[in-house]
Amino acid sequence: MNIQNRLETGSVIAAKGVFIDNEWTPSPSEKTIDVIAPATGAVVARIAAGNADDIDRAYQAARRAFEDGAWGKLTAVERGRLLTRLSRLIEDHADELTALEALDTGKPLKQARADIVSCARYFEFYGGAADKVHGETIPFLNGYLALTERVPHGVTGQIIPWNYPAQMFGRTLGPALAMGNATVMKPAEDACLTPLRLAELAVEAGFPEGAINIVPGLGEDAGAALTAHPGFDFLSFTGSPEVGTMVQIAAAKNHIGCTLELGGKSPQVVFGDVDLDAALPSLVNAIVQNAGQTCSAGSRLLVEKSAYDRIVGTVAERFAKLQAGTPEMDLDLGPVINAGQKRRVERFCHNADSDGIEIIAQGSVAKDVPEGGFYVAPKMFGHVPRDNALARDEVFGPVLSVIPFEDEADAVALANGTDYGLVAGVWTQNANRAMRVGRKIRAGQVFVNAYGAGGGIELPFGGMKKSGHGREKGFEALKDLSALRTMVVKHD
Ligand code: NAP
Ligand code: MG
Repeated sequence: MNIQNRLETGSVIAAKGVFIDNEWTPSPSEKTIDVIAPATGAVVARIAAGNADDIDRAYQAARRAFEDGAWGKLTAVERGRLLTRLSRLIEDHADELTALEALDTGKPLKQARADIVSCARYFEFYGGAADKVHGETIPFLNGYLALTERVPHGVTGQIIPWNYPAQMFGRTLGPALAMGNATVMKPAEDACLTPLRLAELAVEAGFPEGAINIVPGLGEDAGAALTAHPGFDFLSFTGSPEVGTMVQIAAAKNHIGCTLELGGKSPQVVFGDVDLDAALPSLVNAIVQNAGQTCSAGSRLLVEKSAYDRIVGTVAERFAKLQAGTPEMDLDLGPVINAGQKRRVERFCHNADSDGIEIIAQGSVAKDVPEGGFYVAPKMFGHVPRDNALARDEVFGPVLSVIPFEDEADAVALANGTDYGLVAGVWTQNANRAMRVGRKIRAGQVFVNAYGAGGGIELPFGGMKKSGHGREKGFEALKDLSALRTMVVKHD
């Protein structure tokens, strides 16, 4: 059934339970959570409200799979083949998964499709990588052979957010499974339908029982239980800084490692000599993609003062044409995820307005969108004071803050002037300046004359400063998702 029909007929996808040992089992809590479609505000599905018992059952299944199950016995090449098979199945089911992702998150269909393609690409990349992770031999004392090998942590826990559920499924499970870990995922209650469906496809791909377990539920129940469980060997978390702190404290209590990906306030640094025609789509898309609900959103446009009016005028013209609509309208952006997020975005805009910050451009919401949906018109604010919340805090919505800078040194100070350090873009035709500025920015990824190119599955990704720590994506993720063992062998 396509999403339009589903929204019109009001049919509700029933809760299947908790996914453990390749099967759906009912949660002993017998509670369910209503899943609301952001496009309409109507209930479109119910999911199980997993609790601490479910987390423990999922953990035990993963532990069995890792210690004595079929999963733990597979060779690296066999694991890689399973990942590759899952990648193909995701491609084969791309239409169905695209519709599900769009229904659950409200994103335009073209964005949902791009996310499914990325999800397949994660399993393709890590399927190919699984048997290419080598250790080293180390020159040591006479009569010894010393070497290193990368081994799985054991059982890893993944807590993912609602903004890109399909991509996050691939981004976290791809490297964890490639390295041979058994996994337990807690997806976000606001958007977990695609991860739950992907788990079924993993069974079809041939993953043995216990390798992938998924426990939907509330963060404060299932999520907190996962982080507090003493059995896990490693945690991956993406979400808010507040919950990130709790995850890190829980990991510390259990003396295990974790990766935290906590968002950003990423700058696009634009010099007067920018090739504006080439830059324009990226400057706008970086904040509008996924209605601004992207950890790496380019939410600060820093513009050289001498060219401010020209550059900002051109961006504003494009910005004013942006339109939000339903997934099937497939416009520039969809609704935000829920009523709370809509209020959050509106609060930022209201406060900016009260602070006297000028709105330079405003997009619109399409006329025929359903009344109950969580639509927000994109807004672009100019001359945002550097100490204003709009210049420092993550809005997680389609709101662009424009700030002028004087010169290179000022641009760098401004780019580095928030607590975050996730991604940055530098736009100039002066190659030396691009290198000088780009290499002074404290961010996990810096793009020159580009921004967030191509999904970046191959490119290590993660934060500096308070954007978090650890690296996902690329080969780097395989290091975080494994432990290094040194072997020393004495011989005659
Ligand atoms: P969040 O609460 O941090 O949610 C992220 C994940 O953590 C979800 O799966 C959530 O579950 C879970 N969680 C919540 N409380 C938990 C706890 N006590 N222990 C363990 N896990 C827990 O984020 P949010 O409330 O959805 O969004 C709030 C803000 O965070 C956004 O406005 C945005 O600024 C930021 N955010 C950033 C990213 C990013 O990509 N960096 C992603 C999402 C949100 P439930 O949602 O099911 O309760
Ligand atoms: Mg939430």
